[in-house]
Order: sequence, then C-alpha cells, then structure tokens
Amino acid sequence: METPENEKFRDSIATVSAEGKRSWIFPKKPAGAYYKYRKLLSYFLLLFLFAAPFIKVGGNQFLMFNVLERRFNIFGFPFWPQDFHLFVIMMIIGVVFVIFFTVAFGRIFCGWICPQTIFMEMVFRRIEYWIDGDRTKQMKLDKMPWNAEKIRKRTLKWTIFFIISFFIANIFLAYLIGSDKLISYIQAGPFTNASTLIALLIFTGAFYFVFAWFREQVCIIACPYGRLQGVLLDNKSIVVAYDHKRGEKEKGRFKFRKNEDRAASGKGDCIDCFQCVHVCPTGIDIRNGTQLECVNCTACIDACDSIMEKVNLPKGLIRYASEDNIEKKAKFTFNARLKGYTAVLIILISVFLGMLFLRNDLEANVLRLPGQLYERKDNNVISNVYTFKLVNKTTQRIEDVNFKLLSHNGNIKMVKSSSLEVPEQGLAEGTLFIEINQAALSGDKDRLKIGVYSGDELIETTTTAFLGPRTYK
Ligand code: SF4
Ligand code: SF4
Repeated sequence: METPENEKFRDSIATVSAEGKRSWIFPKKPAGAYYKYRKLLSYFLLLFLFAAPFIKVGGNQFLMFNVLERRFNIFGFPFWPQDFHLFVIMMIIGVVFVIFFTVAFGRIFCGWICPQTIFMEMVFRRIEYWIDGDRTKQMKLDKMPWNAEKIRKRTLKWTIFFIISFFIANIFLAYLIGSDKLISYIQAGPFTNASTLIALLIFTGAFYFVFAWFREQVCIIACPYGRLQGVLLDNKSIVVAYDHKRGEKEKGRFKFRKNEDRAASGKGDCIDCFQCVHVCPTGIDIRNGTQLECVNCTACIDACDSIMEKVNLPKGLIRYASEDNIEKKAKFTFNARLKGYTAVLIILISVFLGMLFLRNDLEANVLRLPGQLYERKDNNVISNVYTFKLVNKTTQRIEDVNFKLLSHNGNIKMVKSSSLEVPEQGLAEGTLFIEINQAALSGDKDRLKIGVYSGDELIETTTTAFLGPRTYK
C-alpha cells in the first residue's frame, strides 16, 4: 500500500539522505524567551554536574557511581552491595517518575534536562556558532574548499571540542572512581596510572565522537527513551505542537503578503516561512505533527513566535499543547492514568525513605564455617565455628566492636582478640566461636540472635544457626 502524501515524511529521517548518507543539520541559532530560560537552567545544571562529585556531605561524595568497587553515593547517602535492594527501588522510582512525566508533559526531560541536549545545544553548538557563524555561514563554510579560513576555523573548533571532551571525561571519571582518587592521580602525574589514563582517553574519544559528529542521532537512533514515546504519549500529553487548526484553516498555509486580511481570506496563520524547520536541531518539520525525532527543545516555538510578532498575528501557533487542546480546546486534566502513576510513585518513595532511614550504619553477617559440624567440650559445652563480616557504611571509624549472645546463655570468642575496629567505609572480617551448654539448646539446630556492640552500645543485631547433637526425648 502506498503511503498517503501527508504521511510521506515518516518514510525518511532528516539526518539521512535518500542515498543513505549522513545529511548534516545546520540549525539556525535559536533566540527567544524559551531559549533564554533554557540557557539559565542549563548553566545551573552544568554547574551542578561539574560540582556534584566534589561536594561532600558528612564526608561522603555527594554523587558517586563507583561500579568497579560497587560503591554508590546518592545525595551523600552511601550505598553498598548489601543495599542493592534500595538501589533497585531507587531505579524503579526513577523509571516511574520519567514515565509519569512523559505521559503528562511529553519529552520535556529531553529538551530541558538531558545532559546530551544541554552539552550539545548549550556548549558545543554555541561554540560552533561563535567560530563558524549562524546557519547560512556554516553551510557556506561546509561547501568551501579547504582554504586557509576553513583550516583555521576547523582546527580551532575541533581543538576546543577535544579540550571540552577531555574535561567532561575527567568529570565523568570523578563520578566513577571518586573525586579524591581522581585528584590524587592528577597530582601524581598522568603516567603513574596508565590504565586510568587510557580509560580517560577512551571516554574523551567517545564524548568527542558524540558531540563533534554523531550529535542529534543519539536522540533519534540511539536513545531508548525517545522510542518509548509512541507508547507513553496520548492525546492529553502536553508536547511541543503546531496548532494545525489555526495554522491551516480552510485554505491551508500561504506566504505572507503585506496588508492582506488574512482572517477574511480563509488562509491559515502559518506563513510557510520555514523558520521552525531551519531552527530545529533534529531537522524535522513540526507542522507534520508529533514525531519521534522531536526532543521538545522549544526552539521552533521561539522561532514561530518571533515571526508571528513580525506579521502581527497572535503568538503560540507552535506551543506547548496536547492534541485534545488543539482539536477540542480541552484543558489539561489529571486523568486516571496520571493518578495511578502518582499513587505508585508516592508508595515507592515512602517505602524507599522508610527503608533508607531504618538502614543501619553497620551491616553484620555471621555465618557457620562451611563443612564444620559442632565440637563437644568439657561440661557438655557445644562449640560452633563461624566467619563474620562487618561493613561500616559511615565515614567514622567504629571502635571497640564486640559480640554478645542475646538469645541464649553462652559465650562468643573472637579468634584474634576480644574486640576490633571497623574502618570508615570499610569492612572487618574474622573468625569466632560460639559456645553454649547443651542444656540451653532446644534442639539440634537453634537460631541464635547476636548483638554487635561498640563498647557497651548495641549497634546492630544479626542471626545465625547453631548446630548441636540430636536429642531423643
Ligand atoms: S515558523 Fe510558524 S509561520 Fe513559519 S513555517 Fe513555521 S509554523 Fe509556519
Ligand atoms: S520540532 Fe521544535 S521542539 Fe521539536 S526538536 Fe525541532 S525545534 Fe525542537
């Protein structure tokens, strides 16, 4: 079946030519109210992104994602592999939150908050405008042979792009291995830790490739979130949309003619100036309707508003609106789907906060030594041998740590000493014996409750199994 004329735009993407080659997008420099707000928000978010790994809360890095050592800090809270369940709940909250937001406000995240868009549009693209000029100058430069001007501009641009990519890679590494470690590596010199230097150069190369060449294709081809749009958006979702009712009216879009009475002529308010297309960083025509490529960057809203102002027509031909808002003039409503997502989100956040604040600073595990039975000692005392592991999640050393048996009358003897120290954000391991008189046992496998103390203060409890001889009554 042949594609209808008005749907033909869906058969191709703006960044790939009919021959299957890359079509370079030269978006016009945006200007307008939305761009001004986006700039302000972007600078704030960039500042946060660069500063977060160097901010400490209670001695913990504010944000850290050390996958190699499996240590994560979120808003200064340290998460250990033992807290994996909390981490999973947090990830689920993140996904539900993004779904909830997408259903209500489309890809607002992509245009305003996504680091890819912020770096591309507010850092790299702005440098490009500064060196190469706006759209028409960039196109001219692209077609130019490799003369002195082109070589100078390209060398300058690519060198700056590389330096910024290297800087971003360093920040990325600060999130990954911790800012303290990164600073110590820098102070020790680049060649003292060759593997980190190689990783740094690989990250630099990846960022350079994305921002200098791959660009908007990340959003169009690679990003799974963009693909989710089709299932998440409905007629009530608020997205950057072209008001086709107003833009087309009965006769469709027409070029603007001075002193014409556009309202009486039946022509749409769209004057077919293509400014919304030229400014689009993904190269689409928003007048074709909501498309997967649209990152809701609002550049077309600003472009169209400035045209409307010039031709004396009301602004908002392209605006934040839902399909229902355009078709039926319906107002935004908090529908059943949104209520459901909000309820799930509130429950998940409550569970997460509860678990987070009930979490102990010290995690204790006492496990029977595999393959060992029990040992009978003098006076009917039964002994079991265990290994223990203590994880200190705080930034303070925990001193004078000792164990006491809470559920039974008996003794706990650590092999090396009677107490130990657990270093800050570290662990202590060892072996211990538990001795209980057979008379105090209720069977051949008792469950014991053990208290972990710092001096006389109980800081954690844990349980373990204790084996004894089978008793026949
Ligand atoms: S900028 Fe506005 S008037 Fe110009 S083509 Fe786009 S929608 Fe039509
Ligand atoms: S259509 Fe408009 S909002 Fe969407 S990506 Fe293009 S310029 Fe941005």
